Amino acid sequence: MKRMFIGVVLLLAAALVARADKVYLKDGRSFEGKVVEETEDAIKLKMSKGTIPIKKADIDRIEQGTSPAEELETMLEALTPSNAQGYVEAAEFCAARGVGDGPTVERLANIAISLDPATCGRAQAAIGDWYSSKGNRARAAEAYQAAFTCDWKNPSLRDKYLKYRDTLVDQKKAQLRRLSESLQLTIDNRLADALPGLQASANAPGASLISTYAPGYANYAAFLADVRSRVPCKSCAGKLWLKCFACDGEGSFKCTVCDGKGFKETKKNGQVVDRKDCGTCNKRGKVSCQKCKDTPGRVKCPTCKGVSPKPLAVWDKRGLTAFRAAIDERLVGAVPADEQLGPKLARLGSTTYDEAFTEDGKLVYADGKWVKPEEKK
Ligand SMILES: [Zn+2]
Ligand SMILES: [Zn+2]
Ligand SMILES: [Zn+2]
Repeated sequence: MKRMFIGVVLLLAAALVARADKVYLKDGRSFEGKVVEETEDAIKLKMSKGTIPIKKADIDRIEQGTSPAEELETMLEALTPSNAQGYVEAAEFCAARGVGDGPTVERLANIAISLDPATCGRAQAAIGDWYSSKGNRARAAEAYQAAFTCDWKNPSLRDKYLKYRDTLVDQKKAQLRRLSESLQLTIDNRLADALPGLQASANAPGASLISTYAPGYANYAAFLADVRSRVPCKSCAGKLWLKCFACDGEGSFKCTVCDGKGFKETKKNGQVVDRKDCGTCNKRGKVSCQKCKDTPGRVKCPTCKGVSPKPLAVWDKRGLTAFRAAIDERLVGAVPADEQLGPKLARLGSTTYDEAFTEDGKLVYADGKWVKPEEKK
């Protein structure tokens, strides 16, 4: 019976974890945590550093907290299509308090815009704030751009948009610079130095142009694979074979049965009375290493599997140089704006929103789910 009681208390404690209660003492101090247990004359307050008992006689008052998730739930339940602002406020709440998830925030913002296009600036900014708080700068920039387009007289939206746009441009410039430098190293046949940069540049703007300038490569991946196949293996320094670690390059071990002698002797009073050949090592005094038994003492390099690199290419120097020039052009800004600024917006306009989030008609929230307004009891 006692066991069951403890179980109930633990369950209660888990349920209360989301709440932040504030306990004010008569002496002026206060503690924030969760009241996890209450008896006739004391409570137990669970805080991040541990659980403390507090006498009720010392307590002035307790303010029961509500967790942001609970608050959001209440906000969602109160939404009605006649109040577009409510959806924006819920989306802003998610971004400000870090609750909800991306699809919820996008749905809230998009419902608001579809109900009242005038909410577009705030709603898109809420999407931007949400993704910015999650470190998704590309999606944040996109949303801020949409917000600014909706409400271009709003200086705070313009600042947010510019801040993120500049970051995107900087990121892309760094990618372009790395690709350009790595290409030059490739042309100079410094492949080991070029490879890390080339590998990191697969998604650089303009990387797919390789097939235009160096038609020998169907795409960037093919170019990368070709370069990789010509770089000597680092693990074995191009030797293709490594010393066997199991036997330290010996190819065999001393036979432990005969102690390396190849035979076994039986002695009596210091006299050898019998000598038998060792069957374990077949008289050899050593047994072969199983790791390297086909190539005693050495094993194929596991990284390159013993395959030697292809000979250094006679690169399509003209093609690669032209490719590099095209990348450099992008560095100085002679490229379409959408390539510089990141993902292109599907549509721009004062009512930009994603219909996919509203076309199912699930505009209101009930019992933890999005439902059609007529389904809400
Ligand atoms: Zn070995
Ligand atoms: Zn032996
Ligand atoms: Zn190797």
